[in-house]
Order: sequence, then structure tokens, then C-alpha cells
Amino acid sequence: MNKIKMTTPIVEMQGDEMTRLIWDWIKEILIEPYVDLKTEFYDLGLVERDNTNDQVTIDASLAIKKYGVGVKCATITPNTQRMSEYNLKQMWKSPNGTIRAILDGTVFRSPILVNGITPYIPTWEKPITIARHAYGDIYKNVEAKVAKGGKAKLVVEDENGTREIEIFDYSKTAGVCMGMHNTDSSIISFAKSCFNYALETNQDVWFSSKDTISKIYDHRFKDIFNEVFENEYKEKFEKAGIEYFYTLIDDAVARVVRSNGGFIWACKNYDGDVMSDMVATAFGSLAMMTSVLVAPDGVMEFEAAHGTVTRHYYKYQKGESTSTNPIATIFAWTGAFRKRGQLDNNAELVKYADAVEKASIKTIESGYMTGDLALIFKNDAVKVVKCETKEFLTKIAENIEL
Ligand code: NAP
Ligand code: MG
Repeated sequence: MNKIKMTTPIVEMQGDEMTRLIWDWIKEILIEPYVDLKTEFYDLGLVERDNTNDQVTIDASLAIKKYGVGVKCATITPNTQRMSEYNLKQMWKSPNGTIRAILDGTVFRSPILVNGITPYIPTWEKPITIARHAYGDIYKNVEAKVAKGGKAKLVVEDENGTREIEIFDYSKTAGVCMGMHNTDSSIISFAKSCFNYALETNQDVWFSSKDTISKIYDHRFKDIFNEVFENEYKEKFEKAGIEYFYTLIDDAVARVVRSNGGFIWACKNYDGDVMSDMVATAFGSLAMMTSVLVAPDGVMEFEAAHGTVTRHYYKYQKGESTSTNPIATIFAWTGAFRKRGQLDNNAELVKYADAVEKASIKTIESGYMTGDLALIFKNDAVKVVKCETKEFLTKIAENIEL
């Protein structure tokens, strides 16, 4: 068989632990037999990040900006325990945080649906994609305790002069107060990323906040989304037959639960934190969630939503058999191939990406799956066979139809 040719490289970022092994197995079993793989390789494993003083993460991020498409393996975000485990020079920052800061992107998470794994909400027939604004609000807040008899004020200094606004008078009781911020430029980037990804995936966008209560702060988000949409996206959306609409967060929650799925739900930072875990759990499994970082200029970086699956890795190191689910990592690769194929007019590469995804789903639906899925899979007509990771990948390869 002639291997599929690539014209432009994908930026490939290797990672850590169990997912580092799975990464190589996916390449060996599902990619290299079919594709003449062209990547620009960066090792984002913790050892190499420490060796290069994390320069490798910055270089990889700049490469994604240059080529437009990246695919990343899960990586360790160091904590004190990792400092001693890897004898690190420094507690390096989360690679995802570094990449996000350089690309200025928004993360979109969507579940992969298969028959046999039913969402807890049975009407959810299509995936719900959560777009979480990843800057500001309570994640960059300042806060303080205030003693009884105290006062808290908000002081704003800008070209319009100095304003002092009373937050609360604590004359009767002690309490707490908080200050938070966001920026127009970050909200504009967020809005653009959401609208670009909607056009990319042909889905509606819902955006929710609490502008009836927060008449300046949340209202600014609502206004910016509206302006960006009216000025740059309205016509494109009409052409694509998709919609943008704004609603209050509590109304959005009720609508989401009643919906059939198939849309992008753009959330403010805190709402996105909470709702993404709720949606992921309700769809069944973290190992079946994909994640894509979309920059306002359309650059994309694909990965799995889960981590390096440390617990399985320690078992693997002891020689025990492991059945770690590679699906989200496979879909990170196929997402990157599809996007690369679309940018390069490489129809064969797009077709290959579709075929691997189809084969992955078919393999699970025919009963071959990893242990995490075997626990939740329900279809009386299908006999479930729990596979080790490599065995599962081989089964998928057998189902690829090009
Ligand atoms: P995790 O790697 O997502 O794993 C947590 C648990 O979820 C696993 O122990 C496993 O449960 C289950 N699980 C997750 N992915 C699975 C898969 N593909 N197949 C089967 N089961 C799966 O989270 P963690 O253990 O909290 O974090 C481990 C490391 O990953 C940390 O160093 C963290 O910094 C890093 N991390 C990286 C990213 C990223 O790069 N995007 C994201 C999150 C975490 P059972 O043990 O019950 O089987
Ligand atoms: Mg969270």
C-alpha cells in the first residue's frame, strides 16, 4: 500500500508516563503503516523540560503558531512530589498554561460518543462542547477578610479620574470581600475563538453569563460577544446555517439539560470549570473527552482531556498488565490530521482521519474495549472483551477501511 503523503508538518509534542507509551504505540500501530508521517518533534516530557529550563515548551508553542496545527500528549504538571521524583531544578509551570498564554487560545472539550455508553441524560444524542474562557475572574482575584467595624471600597483610577465605590460597610459584623478583573482583549479573543470553532465544526454557539445581576462586568462580556459577532461573523454564520445566541447562565443550564446536544456552550472561567466536569461526567468517561485549543487566528492544538494516567504507569513499571484507554489520544491525532489535511487540501489525509475515528468507534461497539469502558458499556447483544492497550490498538487497526 502507498502511504499517504503530507506536505506540511504537524507539531508533535511528546509527553509523560502512561500516555508517553501510548503515544508511541499509536504511531507504530495506527499511523506509520498508513501515513508518511511528517512532524516537527518536541519532547515535552518532564525530563526534557527540566533539561532545557522549559525552553522546549516555548519553542513548541512558537512552532504551532508557525505551522498552524499541533498535537500534544498529556504531560506532568510538577508539584512538590514531582520535584523529588524527577529531581527538578524548578517547579516548572503547566505546559498547557504556557502554550495557552503564547497562542492566546480557548480550550474546547467534547465527548466522543459510542453506542453502548449512554450519557446519564438520555436525550444527549450529540456531543456538547464546552468552551471555557481561560483568563481572569476569580482565578486572578484579590481577596481579604474584613474585621467588624471595617469598610471595603473599590478604588478605580483611569483617564476619567479616581472613583471610590463602597463595597460594604461591616459595622455590624466581620466578613470577606473580593476584587476581580478581566480585559476587553481577552474577552475579544475568547469570542473569536468560539465563533471560529463554530464555523470549523458547523455548530451553534450558546454564550451565557449573569448580566442581569452583574450589570457592568458580565454585561461587558455580553456586549463584546455581540459586537464581535455582528461585525465579523454574522454573515459567515448565516452562510453556514448556524446560530449564535446569548442567554442567562441559569436558563442555559436548563436548556442544556433538555437539549439533544450538538452545540458549543461558551462559559465564563468559573462556569466553564464547573460545567465541563459536569458535562464530562454525564457523558460517561474522562478517557473519552477530547480537547482542542483554538487561537483567535485559527491556529489549533489537539490533545486528550485526561492526564498522564500515573496510577496505570506505576502498575506498568511493576510489570502488571494495563488497560489504559487510548481513544482521546487517538482522536487528538486524527483531529490534527484532519485540520492539516483541510489546510493543505490533502483529501487523503482527511479521509484517513475519518477512517481511524470510525474504526475506533466500531471496535468498541463490537465489544473490544479497555477496562474503563468495559465497566460502563451496556449492550446485551454484544460480548465484551477487555483488552490491554496494545491489543486494543491492533483491533482498531484491523477495522480501518481506507
Ligand atoms: P489522570 O491522568 O487523568 O488520571 C486520573 C484517573 O482517571 C486514572 O487514575 C484513571 O482511573 C482514570 N483515567 C484517566 N484517563 C484514563 C484513560 N485514558 N484510561 C483509563 N483510565 C483513565 O489524572 P491524574 O492522575 O490526576 O494526573 C496524572 C498526571 O497528569 C498529573 O501529573 C497531572 O499533572 C497530569 N495532567 C496532565 C494533563 C494534561 O497534560 N492535559 C491534564 C490533567 C492532568 P483509575 O486509576 O481508576 O483507572
Ligand atoms: Mg476543575
